[in-house]
Parts: sequence; C-alpha cells; structure tokens
Amino acid sequence: MQYCNRCGSGVSFVIPTRDSLPRHVCNACGHIHYENPRLVVGCVAEWENRILLCRRAIEPRYGFWTLPAGFMENGETTAQAAVRETHEEARAQILVDAPFALVSIAHINQVHLFYRGRLKEADYAAGDESLEVALLAPEEIPWESLAFRSVALCLERYLADRKEGNFGFHEAQLGPL
Ligand code: ZN
Repeated sequence: MQYCNRCGSGVSFVIPTRDSLPRHVCNACGHIHYENPRLVVGCVAEWENRILLCRRAIEPRYGFWTLPAGFMENGETTAQAAVRETHEEARAQILVDAPFALVSIAHINQVHLFYRGRLKEADYAAGDESLEVALLAPEEIPWESLAFRSVALCLERYLADRKEGNFGFHEAQLGPL
C-alpha cells in the first residue's frame, strides 16, 4: 500500500501507538489501514455419491480442478457464502449440511472453510469462472490436477470420513511448500 484510501496521502509502515505490529499509517490524516486474513468459503457438494468439481476458467490455477469456493462477501454468513459460490461457479443449488474442514494458510493470510452439502437436484453447469463442471465419483477425482492443496486435503478427509460412515470436523494448517 502506497497511498491512504481515505485522503490519498502517502503512508508509512510503522507500529502505531498501543499496537504491536507494523501497519500502513497515513502520513496526513493518521488513518491506520488494518489488514487481516481473508476467508475463503466453499463446499463439498454431493449428488448420489458423486462430488461436484469445477475446472477453473480464471487465474490462479487456470484449467485445474477445484471445489466451488471463493472469498466471503461482507454482509453474508459463511453458509450463505458456500451456497452463493456453488451457484456462481457451478450453477448448482445446494443444501448446506455442516462445516467440514477449516484450513489455516498463514503464509498467504487466508483461512479456507469447506462445508458439506448436497445438490437439490442434478442440475449444474459451468459458471463464468469455470471451464467445466462435473459430478465425479471418488475414483474419478483428478488428484494430480487439483488447483489448491486445501482442496486436496478437504477431499482426502471427506472420502476417508465417508468410507467410515462418520463425518467429523477437521482443522488443519498448510505452510509454504
Ligand atoms: Zn489519510
């Protein structure tokens, strides 16, 4: 950050009074620009034991497969974000069941939250951010072509839990490669 988004003046990266971490502080108006991790919310959505996956039409990871997921918007709940992202990327209507995996990715300042859910009907299509969308059986999941490690982690845990017939909640961390 170079300029204050309140007044347009230059900012300095300094530790404000009574704070412990450096922040971008406006040299003119003194506004402190806090930056915090961003929450990415997605869903493992099933239809008849198949899982809804999207092939990305955008960077990063263009052409790779992912679970429907995206940055949470202001003014919505996490469950609403999962429903919205699944509709945007896969044009599918889902019922959210329960939170399933929470993945901290501290080095990129993100937290990924995946729900479990079900399609209301076998109706889906590629949204604007997807090249294609598919309902895949476990043996069809393209493990080598998954877009993100959090997605792979979530799918591994999901399939393991499903095999045991008991879904838990999984908290995990991913670090730099
Ligand atoms: Zn300012």
